Amino acid sequence: MLIPREKISEILNTSDIVDIISERVILKKSGLNHFGLCPFHSEKTPSFSVSSQKQIFHCFGCNTGGNVFSFLMKYHKISFPEAVKMVAARYNIKIKITSISPEVRKVLNFKEGLFKLNNKVMEYYCQNFLKSKKAVNAQKYLKKRGITRETIILFNIGYSEKSWDALSFFLRKIKFDNNIIEKSGLVIPRKKGNSYYDRFRDRIMFPIHDINMQATGFGGRVMDDSMPKYLNSPETPVYSKSRILYGLHISKQYCRQKDLVYIVEGYFDFLSLYQHKIKNVVASLGTALTTEHVRLLKGYASKMVLVFDSDDAGINASKKSINTFIKEGIEVKILILPRGYDPDSFIFKYGKQSFEEIAGRAMAIIPFLTETAIEKYDLSVEGKINILNEMKPHLAQIKDNVARSLYIKELSHRLDIDEKAVLEKVRQEHAKYLGQKTNIQFNKQPLKKSNTDNISDRREMQILSIMLQYPGVITQIKKRNILSFFYSKRLRKIGELIEEFENFDEIVIADIIARAQSNEDRELIAYLSMMEIPETHNILEKSIFLMNRIIKIKNESENILMNKIKKAQQASDFELSFELLRQKKKEIQKFRGYE
Ligand SMILES: [Zn+2]
Repeated sequence: MLIPREKISEILNTSDIVDIISERVILKKSGLNHFGLCPFHSEKTPSFSVSSQKQIFHCFGCNTGGNVFSFLMKYHKISFPEAVKMVAARYNIKIKITSISPEVRKVLNFKEGLFKLNNKVMEYYCQNFLKSKKAVNAQKYLKKRGITRETIILFNIGYSEKSWDALSFFLRKIKFDNNIIEKSGLVIPRKKGNSYYDRFRDRIMFPIHDINMQATGFGGRVMDDSMPKYLNSPETPVYSKSRILYGLHISKQYCRQKDLVYIVEGYFDFLSLYQHKIKNVVASLGTALTTEHVRLLKGYASKMVLVFDSDDAGINASKKSINTFIKEGIEVKILILPRGYDPDSFIFKYGKQSFEEIAGRAMAIIPFLTETAIEKYDLSVEGKINILNEMKPHLAQIKDNVARSLYIKELSHRLDIDEKAVLEKVRQEHAKYLGQKTNIQFNKQPLKKSNTDNISDRREMQILSIMLQYPGVITQIKKRNILSFFYSKRLRKIGELIEEFENFDEIVIADIIARAQSNEDRELIAYLSMMEIPETHNILEKSIFLMNRIIKIKNESENILMNKIKKAQQASDFELSFELLRQKKKEIQKFRGYE
């Protein structure tokens, strides 16, 4: 173990999984559990459940599950020790450095070092902007764009001076490890010698934070017409542009409040909306939105509006993001601003109220695509054929049957084409998609890895499920040595893990999960803890019944085999009896776990 068990238990006891997950997923209480939209697969109705009693989560849609650490590992794509540290930090629990193994410490220190460096650099750029005489142009520039001092300070906007090595010099002075300096991407190694030059020079600097409020990277904008207009940090172990949205670290609380988020493209679009009290906003920084972006956002608001410039570039950018929304089943609306405006210039000219007014008229995806296609092709016969061809892949991707048929109806109406003809086109397209995807999550069985999927497995799983949900029966199960009758080695091991705890209260399940061997086992335990146990008055009776069945099955199959061997021997069929004995030996080996 990399971090001592007692420490992990302490952290599990102090933390609350509902707190941690609800900071990232919108949860609603229903009965004993909390439910929300799963951040790990696309869905429209919540099947992601969190139990505060058991301190675990489980998704009935994709079978992901585990304790608070498993959640954070999967959600932030981080390692186990990182997840432990994240929870510990959240609850001010101290972990001694000496209790972490050297290799793990190295990885942790590296990422931590990058965050530290980014934060130092952010302060450095900010001080430059606020205090340096060299920043006069930068200050004038932001003033001209209407950005207030308050906004500048809240979003830590800074300035990188016009120099090849000002930052490199600063970083050497505060003695950061060279490896970390280089990996930060803020400086670039010179071809000759072993020094660096600064990536960002004479630019307004926008630090980009993750939702844990840590600076992960930077964007820099020039103040004249030189190119490139915007420059961003390269991907680093802590910065991935497909997972990060600008401003969400501050705006997330407002997105929650309004249950609505405006998605804009650039830093200035974001800042000017925010400054005009439209605070439920994020910026995609010019990249098409990824599935990860959309899943991140749906943890903060169920309604989303894409805001784009009316120029072709803006419309094309929004089209790229649209398919991601359709696939995720999120009903996003598209707001195209009046010709010649972007969100920044619009809000400064017309103000908050006008913005909200036109936002109220934002179009749903399919009508938006229909209208832009009509504008492109016109409503001649040929135009209609083109429009239909352009629309069918979008329509075919809508998973919700009712929504799809309503849109088909609407489109046929708008184009004045027979509904059946449209339907036929979409059906052909839909068949193509169905042909493509046979895989994924939904067929995932918690037990699929083992080849022992049979009736005794189902009973064995029920026994484990009862042990987890009614720990009072564990004493009985131990006394009768039930686990030794299990066929599945994997389930027996999990059972033994549960037995170690004996007579626990529900909260310990998270602890059991922490001790499981593999990720598959952790998911299985979470599943078993949430599995519905068939209605019964007496759980002890039910478990005794199951125990007897398991013992009986084991004995029966042994007896049958023994009888066969006896008969073969009586008939002097040595070949058969030899084969049967071999089978019996194999059975015993399998049963003992030597398979
Ligand atoms: Zn799921």
